[in-house]
Amino acid sequence: MTIRIRSLRSLAMTALLLQYVPDQGGVVGLLGGKMRCLVTGCAGFIGSHLAEKLVESGFEVVGIDSFTDYYDRKIKETNVQGLLKSSNFTFIKEDLLGVDLDKLLEGIDYIFHHAAQPGVLASWGERFEAYLNNNILATQRLLESAKKVSLKLFIFASSSSVYGDCQLPMREDRLLLPVSPYGVSKLACESLCYSYWKNFGVPVVSLRYFTVYGPRQRPDMAFHKFIRAMLKGEVITIYGDGDQTRDFTYIEDAVNSNILVMEKACTGEIFNIGGGSYISVNGAIKLLEEIIEKKAQIKYTEKMKGDMRATWADIKKAKKMLGYKPRFNLKEGLIKEIKWIKGIMTK
Ligand code: NAD
Repeated sequence: MTIRIRSLRSLAMTALLLQYVPDQGGVVGLLGGKMRCLVTGCAGFIGSHLAEKLVESGFEVVGIDSFTDYYDRKIKETNVQGLLKSSNFTFIKEDLLGVDLDKLLEGIDYIFHHAAQPGVLASWGERFEAYLNNNILATQRLLESAKKVSLKLFIFASSSSVYGDCQLPMREDRLLLPVSPYGVSKLACESLCYSYWKNFGVPVVSLRYFTVYGPRQRPDMAFHKFIRAMLKGEVITIYGDGDQTRDFTYIEDAVNSNILVMEKACTGEIFNIGGGSYISVNGAIKLLEEIIEKKAQIKYTEKMKGDMRATWADIKKAKKMLGYKPRFNLKEGLIKEIKWIKGIMTK
């Protein structure tokens, strides 16, 4: 596949022509140019959907992704295929830790920082270095550059993993005691964001996503693995007794929360972004059986270290301050993910 990469210098030149015009919906610049967004991790699951939504909404989007090897790079290439066709999208295949971030941010109005090393279970042992680099260090460096420019907003993709096994439902003001190195790394990033807002006025908002699912879901995530196994007639492995519960967020709801934050611009705030209800893993498999019309073969195995017993988002704050309301229930969302997985399995 061909990847269109523009030099940072030409990006900066174009950017000089842009300014914010609130009366024109925030999308158009003074010389008719468009507002510019940077999406980090744009080839990933959430980042690619978000970049598409921003392009569709009339923004000019610069996307950066280094195609880390956490999962198959071909999946990431496919994720950006549609975006690469748009003249309003520029792809930069670089590592946030290697690129000149000051140049990258010239002329950028909004940053959506989604690049990260995800995955709770893989974050122990030597592999923590990837979490240290791609999460904590990359975020700190991005914030250092962000403090030098005039941004409208810096949205950070945080995670329910920052909570640990806290009282339910999880509210933004609960004591945060993450139970995995991944959760620790996301909390460190969130705290860095807060510090740069407090000290330098970087206009940061953190969104704590609760298990996002839907088309393009990462292949290491539970629904993706379960659906694939069920369609192929293979055994599903469940870590623990399956009674652990999760609040699941459909991808479009997660993406829309970013758009709502752009409209409200409540900097310094942290919001839970969840589906607003919870279900056990066993319950979710029953639902999959009903939709796929096939009995799952399940093997229960030892609980994985770092796996939270339950997540359930209290979304009152996001409802009140952002007008956030999840639009997809689990069944509707799963039907869409199943359709997508069937599609990629036949390719
Ligand atoms: P993903 O792995 O699909 O996307 C992340 C992308 O970031 C990848 O394409 C990767 O190549 C890129 N990347 C990583 N380090 C980079 C670096 N140093 N420089 C450039 N690119 C880099 O993950 P996702 O599921 O789409 O998650 C996106 C964000 O949302 C992450 O920050 C994750 O922690 C957060 N999050 C996701 C979920 C979820 O359920 N998927 C839940 C909570 C939070």
